[in-house]
Amino acid sequence: ESDVTGKHSDTMKRGDDRLTAVCAMEPGHAGSPRKRRRPGLGRNPMERFWRTHLAVTQVCSQTWCELQVAYGFEIPHVLTELEERPEVTAGASIHLSREMEVQKVVAVPVLSREDRQAIPFLNLLSMIPALQAGLRVRELPVLGLLEGVFLMGVVDELCYSEKGELVLTELKTRRVNTLPGPAQVKGHNLQVRLYKLLFDSLVRGDLKRDHVISHLRLRPEQALGRGVLEHAGKLSLQVSTFGDLLDLLLLNLSYCELPAVDRLSLEYCHQGSGASIGTRDVPFAEPQLREELRYYLSYWTGHREPRGVDIEEVWKCNTCPYKEHCEWKLEEGSADMVTTPTKRTIT
Ligand code: SF4
Repeated sequence: ESDVTGKHSDTMKRGDDRLTAVCAMEPGHAGSPRKRRRPGLGRNPMERFWRTHLAVTQVCSQTWCELQVAYGFEIPHVLTELEERPEVTAGASIHLSREMEVQKVVAVPVLSREDRQAIPFLNLLSMIPALQAGLRVRELPVLGLLEGVFLMGVVDELCYSEKGELVLTELKTRRVNTLPGPAQVKGHNLQVRLYKLLFDSLVRGDLKRDHVISHLRLRPEQALGRGVLEHAGKLSLQVSTFGDLLDLLLLNLSYCELPAVDRLSLEYCHQGSGASIGTRDVPFAEPQLREELRYYLSYWTGHREPRGVDIEEVWKCNTCPYKEHCEWKLEEGSADMVTTPTKRTIT
């Protein structure tokens, strides 16, 4: 591994000097069971589904089928079954082993919503100096207010190229040993472009205290739990409340002088062998991206209904876990198209 100056980095080689945290439930704390909530009338999806923010991956899933995303909230038990599929867990373990090549992952007990949000903040705080030192970081949290909606995500990797460019890479693991088709690539491209938009605005100091407190509905005066405080201590950070930690993060971001992302890349890797299938560079143009984002968010803010797949992409319904429930499929009378696609001619 090399840093921007081309010198070898001891920290990178050891990989266990740096700490990154994941949430663990405090022993004896039952946590919140996943509840099924029926959609309410007259409220937008952010309110109906009790969303304070959206994950970048949720917005990207809209490129595949918006109705599928909506059903993910309305019929959550199907989503749970999807999360347990072997390819999902195989992908997660490849990501984890890559992360552990550069940083040690530790479980930190959490007691409150503020504790839970403190974990990505601490991870971000621990990665800023690593990036300033020219090191590679993995699983870097990004967050911010874009087009009126608070978005959060986790960047797979940021590192400097030999030319000194800051390169953002998203790793996609695949069950099959081939590159994905255009329908899947559309969502992947959107994901890395949104990550760049969020990262660049973070290092420009655009994130405001009020954005976090009001959009995420968190209490700045809330004392951080014992586990979070212990982890902060290991990172040499002196904080006692969630507000202290947020202020420290905003201060670090304002003075970090990190560059914007120069290059976006997608890396595809085969789950079975772990071998690379290929990489693709992704172009970036902010005005077009913001226009796309406004379109996708207009569903969440209640300005339009969710869309099913386009007629040319009805093949997506064949493997959709919601096809038995899907109003688009029933209303459009497309059941025949789905089960017998060869009978249909698309002009
Ligand atoms: Fe979307 Fe087709 Fe699934 Fe309906 S059946 S949610 S249109 S993919």
